Amino acid sequence: MKPPVFDYVSPGSVEEAIAALGAEGAEETKVLAGGQSLVPLLNLRLAQPARIVDLNGIESLTRITLADGSLTVGALVRQRAAERSSEVRTACPLMAQAIPLIGHSAIRNRGTVGGSIAHADSAAELPTVVVCLDAELVAQGPGGTRVIPAADFFTGFFSTALSEDEVLTAVRVAAAGPHTGSAYEEVARRHGDFAMVGVAAVVRLDGDTVADARIAVSGVGATPVRARAAEAGLIGGTATEDLFAVAAASASAGIAPTSDLHASAAYRRHLCGVLVNRALRTATSRAREGR
Ligand SMILES: Cc1cc2nc3c(=O)[nH]c(=O)nc-3n(C[C@H](O)[C@H](O)[C@H](O)COP(=O)(O)OP(=O)(O)OC[C@H]3O[C@@H](n4cnc5c(N)ncnc54)[C@H](O)[C@@H]3O)c2cc1C
Repeated sequence: MKPPVFDYVSPGSVEEAIAALGAEGAEETKVLAGGQSLVPLLNLRLAQPARIVDLNGIESLTRITLADGSLTVGALVRQRAAERSSEVRTACPLMAQAIPLIGHSAIRNRGTVGGSIAHADSAAELPTVVVCLDAELVAQGPGGTRVIPAADFFTGFFSTALSEDEVLTAVRVAAAGPHTGSAYEEVARRHGDFAMVGVAAVVRLDGDTVADARIAVSGVGATPVRARAAEAGLIGGTATEDLFAVAAASASAGIAPTSDLHASAAYRRHLCGVLVNRALRTATSRAREGR
């Protein structure tokens, strides 16, 4: 299959990209990052934009910086580069743990961190990671820069709070502190497939007590969801198998998955419980080991 005919713009800066997005016919314009989702959509004619604005010439979007307790990953950082980055591994181990589960290495070589988040597939790993970590998503448009909390960024299936003339420029997360561990667990039919259900978890310990817990679940709704009741039930408790089992049951009861070709609602609910339990156990043991 071949894509439809389109005009191609290759800006050298975010400002030029925004100008191209805001030009006449902006509603028919699409940003191109790694192309790992957009190009198949073009080839299948599921997207037929009149103009493509290619971000790949914008060097400023390719940086990873760790400063003042905050990790900033540029939107155009390849998933593979983030996976291999020592800054990401140190400051945001959850992201480093989740990325190897995205597709295959050939896809991660081209696919970008920002592209995955802007694409907003509810089964995808990086949207779930940013929701779990309460990350900040930095967007730039004609009116300047704004910061969108991850909780407000995903607005539905494949839709976000970005407007048509905005570019996602970076993801910002607070660097992981001490006594904190994380894990990303998922079940997919085959290696490299999108997961039926995925779970991101972060646990901070104070001795044997859970001082903080975060859980986000993918594949069970239009956007990744936080298991807030399960998190609340963990905080202040002693980190034991019994506590994790209660949290897993709470997370599983708190979601409203639907059935589709890949899995029934009941199976997704079951997977959610199993994966929350598994992720909490792994995150806690990493917190104990200081990893
Ligand atoms: C076979 C296969 C398996 C895959 N498996 C997985 C998987 O298991 N998990 C997973 O998460 N993903 C998977 N993917 C998707 C992959 O992660 C993509 O890289 C990702 O979804 C999109 O990133 P991209 O950089 O390729 O963006 P593109 O494909 O270039 O763009 C995707 C969308 O986001 C928009 N966009 C991109 N960047 C920006 C930006 N900076 N600002 C505003 N809008 C932007 C584009 O306009 C487009 O609408 C798979 C893809 C393939 C082909």
